[in-house]
Amino acid sequence: FKRINDTLGHPVGDKVLITVAERLKGVLRQSDVVARASEQPTSIISRLGGDEFTVLSANFTSLDHIATLTERIIQAIEQPIIWQDQTIALSASIGISVYPDDSSDLDTLLKNADTAMYEAKEKGRNNFQFFQHQMNDAANARFQLANSLRRALTHNEFELYYQPQFRNLDKQLSGVEALIRWQDPVKGLVPPNHFLPFAEESGLIHAINDWVITTACTQAQRWVEAGLFTGRRMAINISGQNVNFKRLSRRILEVLEQTGLAPQHLELELTERVMMENTDDAVESLQHFKEMGIAIAIDDFGTGYSALSHLQLFPLTTLKIDKSFVQNISKNNNSIALLHSIVGIAKSFDLKVIAEGVETEEQLKVLDAISCDELQGYLFSRPIPGKQLEQGLLSGLFSPHSR
Ligand code: C2E
Ligand code: CA
Ligand code: CA
Repeated sequence: FKRINDTLGHPVGDKVLITVAERLKGVLRQSDVVARASEQPTSIISRLGGDEFTVLSANFTSLDHIATLTERIIQAIEQPIIWQDQTIALSASIGISVYPDDSSDLDTLLKNADTAMYEAKEKGRNNFQFFQHQMNDAANARFQLANSLRRALTHNEFELYYQPQFRNLDKQLSGVEALIRWQDPVKGLVPPNHFLPFAEESGLIHAINDWVITTACTQAQRWVEAGLFTGRRMAINISGQNVNFKRLSRRILEVLEQTGLAPQHLELELTERVMMENTDDAVESLQHFKEMGIAIAIDDFGTGYSALSHLQLFPLTTLKIDKSFVQNISKNNNSIALLHSIVGIAKSFDLKVIAEGVETEEQLKVLDAISCDELQGYLFSRPIPGKQLEQGLLSGLFSPHSR
């Protein structure tokens, strides 16, 4: 629904809500006729806010009966809406709680229906789910994780590791990618894939992005001042649903100003998904960044949403080939041809190409043969703590031929 509002405007969003409400009414009117329990209508529809509706329905004989009604609602809602020459596809996720089995008070019934709806959403589009008591455990676990992530931010439990990136030509260090780690007092070192999805779900990701920007820029400026970072870049990952690019711009400008870091030392890594969710603002902000000298990399290129048109749409400086491509190299020849074309296209857009996940000499050889500009991967170094990277820089470990 948010995408409809963002792309087609609020008046269209309103029309969609009205259409959905009417379709709901239609389905429930029919079921009232079928139920014929009394002259009174047996269902009440209301809009809870945003794109959330509640249906309060009485006089059910069985859970099957509820499931049938729910399926009818889903079928009604999934009919596309034609507006001008656009087809708007809708889907619904429905959570159900039953009085008095699931609770006898209204607030708890609503809360349980909400929890069940959340589970339905997890299952994919157009699903429904009856509330089950163990769902409260799952909801609790999510709540706890969100709490510990919040605590992690205030208690400084996050840490950045840095993974070196090298120029292919002279194998000189061209920069580092900052990768977040969570040092949980109980669980120990938690990798990002275990907590970032929850951070994204709960919206905490934006505070985490802010923390990463500040920490990485502060670190980079210290290395610049120590003479260890000349001509080198600090690459930062920005992720999350609905990244607010205007806010992100302000934040980055503030941090550059506070730390004194020159924009030429900064690189942002964004996936196509993040850029696509807010295209207009993304294009404008990224253009501004690019003009300032900040490098903009399209991350994970070749996975999921990848589209060549994105290379034209967004102001980019760098294309980052996803590690899944690199790791396919040894497996078949087609993948080499594909890689070769990607590099060719990137170059025609004037983009620098970096390959991530380089693990073997064989992969390196292929990447060299197709003129990939920069390389990153376990073959050279894993992500390491700042102190360790600094020692490497000081002892010349990252200079040519040191491998
Ligand atoms: P990514 O941006 O694609 O980062 C590359 C991931 O590949 C990192 O995993 C890195 O440790 C791993 N990697 C590097 N070289 C190799 C290799 O040779 N072989 C293999 N198999 N893996 C390699 P990591 O650090 O676990 O991060 C996972 C993902 O979490 C990142 O994927 C990124 O999407 C996200 N992430 C990490 N740090 C941050 C952060 O500070 N902010 C945000 N928003 N996202 C982050
Ligand atoms: Ca990345
Ligand atoms: Ca990747």
